[in-house]
Amino acid sequence: MKITVAGTGYVGLVAGVCFAEKGYDVTCVDVDEKKVEMMRQGISPIYEEGLEELIRKNNADGTLHFTTDYKCAYRDADAIFIGVGTPEMPNGSANLSYIATVSRQIAETVEKDCLVVVKSTVPVGTNDKVEQFIKDFLVHHVKVEVASNPEFLAQGTAVHDTLHAARIIIGTESKEAEELLTKIYEPFGLPIVSVKRRSAEMIKYACNDFLALKISYMNDIANLCELVGADITDVAKGMSYDERIGARFLNAGIGFGGSCFPKDTKALKYLAREHGYQLKTVEACVDVNVSQKTRLFEKAKDRMITFNGLKVAVLGLTFKAGTDDLREAPSIDNLKLLLAAGADVFAYDPKGAERAEMIFPVGKVENGTMTYVSSVGEALDKAHICFVFTEWPEIKAVMPVEFKERMHTPLVYDGRNLYPIEAMKEAGVEYYSIGR
Ligand code: NAD
Repeated sequence: MKITVAGTGYVGLVAGVCFAEKGYDVTCVDVDEKKVEMMRQGISPIYEEGLEELIRKNNADGTLHFTTDYKCAYRDADAIFIGVGTPEMPNGSANLSYIATVSRQIAETVEKDCLVVVKSTVPVGTNDKVEQFIKDFLVHHVKVEVASNPEFLAQGTAVHDTLHAARIIIGTESKEAEELLTKIYEPFGLPIVSVKRRSAEMIKYACNDFLALKISYMNDIANLCELVGADITDVAKGMSYDERIGARFLNAGIGFGGSCFPKDTKALKYLAREHGYQLKTVEACVDVNVSQKTRLFEKAKDRMITFNGLKVAVLGLTFKAGTDDLREAPSIDNLKLLLAAGADVFAYDPKGAERAEMIFPVGKVENGTMTYVSSVGEALDKAHICFVFTEWPEIKAVMPVEFKERMHTPLVYDGRNLYPIEAMKEAGVEYYSIGR
């Protein structure tokens, strides 16, 4: 069985590598030549635990290939998995231009019957359109079917999530497609939920938006906790024992970021509106998240006279720990505000600094300055104020006394609720977190 994967981002690359690990002959296609060259040399273009090792292993075994030559990769594939991006359009809808490009390339290239599997997150009905589009542009007389197979991995644990997924969702319109896709996933030994294509597409949005809702709900409750003198950590603990609620995704914080929740909530809101329906729950979730992202900045602004000329330590830039991804990270909204207010920002992130530099270059930015440092200590030294944006273990491990001893003024705004309130108080740190 020859598998081709289009797009080597978090989804495509991890899927390709895991298929190779399960013994398939896999070719990964990307338009980015630099990325392809790196992967050929066994270097992962993204940071994900265990990924680089698997790329190297399967490169060496000869089961994993990387190319920009889509014609060769698509021509004789049995299955082509599409994992290209579906970013947000200015109006909130999903940008399907990358999907369209790949579909056209597939139509013009395939020379034998094949199954096209859409892994990217796409609005309900897109698989139907992709199938029709490919049929319209087919050059050779072959049979092409389209199946939906949404991806549920979380960045930071992508390889583990793929190899040990809770379930595989398969959305097909024919017995043949269902059987082939089931066979492809057989070596993974995971539960398979087989549904129609539109339901599969909806499952992905329903899951992501439910998780986003859970986060926004906890943040909303956390904000209320602050007003009424309750502690969100205790509240979440109490809630977590209820099996109907579950123990995960109950952490209050600075709001969700990343390449999925923000765009997938907006895309579903848009899809509903397009069908004359208002998805009030999801709309509320989006609104709560927008204000949550800068809630700590607003609090700090109230506390300070100015940020102008102050040394601001920023601990964590990525949207979560375990990834180098900064897309929609709350740090970005806050850095924009801090730099516009004239702050001298000293930022530390173990994996995200390189990408952050592309948005906020070193030196003068707006009215402030941007510096990247290689340790928490350097960021904290003589700082007037500290913001915590990501829950990296090394940031979590900072002892309260370090804030007190290193900072000019031990004033900490923690968007991840990483430190015990009592310990911070005892160390003499003025400490603000979320919902506590
Ligand atoms: P990404 O932006 O990291 O990667 C997309 C890749 O596709 C890029 O490397 C790009 O160069 C490549 N590409 C673009 N056009 C191409 C073409 N014509 N041929 C070949 N390659 C092409 O995207 P991602 O984060 O992996 O997300 C991909 C899809 O999966 C999105 O729809 C996303 O919503 C969904 N998804 C993402 C995650 C996640 O955690 N990142 C999880 C589940 C689902």
